This record gives sequence, structure tokens and C-alpha cells, in this order.
Amino acid sequence: MIIMNSGAKTEEVNRVVEEIKKKGLRADVSRGEFRTIIGIVGDETKVDFDRLAALPGVKDVRPVEAPYKLISREYGEALAGREHPGEIKIKNVVIGGQEPVFIAGPCSIESKQQFDKIAEAVKKAGAHILRGGVFKPRSSVHSWQGIGSEGEEMAEEALSWMREAGDRLEMPIVTEAIGHESLKIVAKYADIIQIGSRNMYNQDLLQAAGRTGLPVLFKRHFGAGIEEFLSFSEYIASEGNSKIILVERGMLPVGKGKNYTRYSLDLAAVPAIQKETFLPVLVDPSHGTGRRDLILDMSCAAIACGAEGLMIECHSNPEEAIVDTAQQITPDELKQVIETCNKIHKLVGESKKRAKEAAI
Ligand code: PEP
Ligand code: MN
Repeated sequence: MIIMNSGAKTEEVNRVVEEIKKKGLRADVSRGEFRTIIGIVGDETKVDFDRLAALPGVKDVRPVEAPYKLISREYGEALAGREHPGEIKIKNVVIGGQEPVFIAGPCSIESKQQFDKIAEAVKKAGAHILRGGVFKPRSSVHSWQGIGSEGEEMAEEALSWMREAGDRLEMPIVTEAIGHESLKIVAKYADIIQIGSRNMYNQDLLQAAGRTGLPVLFKRHFGAGIEEFLSFSEYIASEGNSKIILVERGMLPVGKGKNYTRYSLDLAAVPAIQKETFLPVLVDPSHGTGRRDLILDMSCAAIACGAEGLMIECHSNPEEAIVDTAQQITPDELKQVIETCNKIHKLVGESKKRAKEAAI
């Protein structure tokens, strides 16, 4: 990472960028309130750091050891003046700010009527952002693949229902892109692009999502280590887009015999990830447990361990949902989850602050 002097001129920044480009690498330029930081994207061994350090306007040249640099805490902190580089503002909602953010909606969009009803109910329950699957990544090709699989026209229609509901209720909307084709369509309507766990390793899709410039909600693969998860997030950031919302959604359970949960929610990943990156971390207790009766408990636990929000599947009539019947909660249950989590956030926040002060 190259840290420029606070008063560095544009020509000086450009000169550094040129030097990096000459080596066939890319430069990520972040302009903070007080200074500019330049990150190198690509094989750093090709760069002569001493030469860069000697260029006019350069304050410091610092190597970042981790395989992810642009999203590292170190990089975020170097952007002096940006106290919360991880705050992502989407319309009227701030993710990674002072309050937890709740994303809710059905697993899959089934009809305009179904979505409108749920959207209104989740808004009333206190959710901030609307979710809904149009393109569904399914394990079996014989299962319904979401309304988006019923042709491009149908996909656009479903996305326009989301857009309309989002505008009417003043809620940003998030929906998944499962490939390049769906990404193009999703980017026309959504405020946030979701990249699902199954695509965590699809670097080409991650870069394309990054290039849209829209915030990307990025879910951890159920078999990926934390370093891998962060390294792949860097593919999005390498396109000059650090509006990345990380989501822990549970790992493949291990051990013989019945596990009683669909996935194992890795809550220790939340504070562990936060120590590494400035990006906000959310938890999805719906896929993380696969069980409606565990959502309240795991939501509380997620907020208590510092998650900056939750993504919860919610349906007016979960028994009738086409996909993920067992894990969707009702809007009334969602209201209870949000109210309880807000209380926990306040209590835990105050207690942790007092504990820190006492330790000084
Ligand atoms: C989803 O949130 O709709 C989803 C399919 O989740 P995941 O990618 O985590 O399985
Ligand atoms: Mn689902």
C-alpha cells in the first residue's frame, strides 16, 4: 500500500499509478478525507518499492502481508479521516454503522401478490432492506429454479415487483445473481447484488459484480475457511468497489449421525473476520440453522457477538412457501426477533464499552 502525503497533488498520484501500470499491474486509488492511499492489485514482486517510495508526494510504502489487502483493516485504517471506512450507505440505510441492519423477505419470489404482502409486513416488523430470490441456485436441476428461470421477461417482471415495493416502502432491495446473464438483469433493478455461497469461488462473476459499482452482499461458501472467504472478497474490491457486505451463513456440519441443523452457524467467524477487515459482517440464521424454531436464539447470539445485521427469510405463510419451508419465519416472529436483537445490541454494546473502559 502506498500512502500519499496529505497535500499530494493529482499529478503525483497519477505518477505513482503510472509506475504501477508500467509493471502490468493495477492500482486501486482510495481518496480519503485527508489523504490518498494506493493499493497494488496483482503480483507485487514485480514492483520496485524503493523507487515508489522516492517518488514525489509519497509519504510511506507499506507491505500488507495478508492475501487480501484492499479490504484489510490496516488499509481501512490508513484512510485517515474515514473513521468508519466500512460504513455502506444505501439510500436511507447505513450498513456497518451504529445500529444493526435487518434484511428480510421470502426465500423466493413466487408472485407479485405474495411479495407485496410480505414486503409490507416485514417493513412493519422493523426490517430495513427487502430480500427475495428471483434466480435460485438449487442443488437439483429437477427442483424449481426460481421465477427468474421462467424466461427473461418473467425475471424482469419479478424484479420490477421488487423495485416497486422497495420504492413504495422506501426500502433498498437485494437479490441474487447466479451468473453473468442474471447479473446484467439484476444490476438494472437491485440496490444490492447478492452473490450466493455457491458462487463464492466464481472469481469472474465476483469481478463482474464489483464492476457494476453496486454494493455486493457476499455470502461465505459452506466449506470455505475465513482466509479464503476474505481472499475472494478481494476480487470484488479489486474492481474499485469496496462496498462489500460479508455474510456468514453456516458451514457444512461435520460428524456422523443427525446434526439437527441444516448447516453449522460459525459465529466465531464474526469477530474473527472483523479483526481482519473493515467490511461489515452480517449473519444469516435462516440458512445457518434451517430451522424456524432456532432463528430467535441464533439471531440474539449473532447480534451479541457483534454482527452488524441479520439476513432472515420471512414468509406470510411459511408452510406454503415453495422453497425453504422449514426455515422461514412469519412477520410476527420477525418483529419479535428485531425487537429482541435491538435490545441485545444496546445492552451488549454498553456492557462491552464499560468492560473496555475498566480494562484501561
Ligand atoms: C439465499 O440467501 O437466498 C441463499 C440461497 O443463500 P446461500 O447462498 O447462503 O445458500
Ligand atoms: Mn433460502
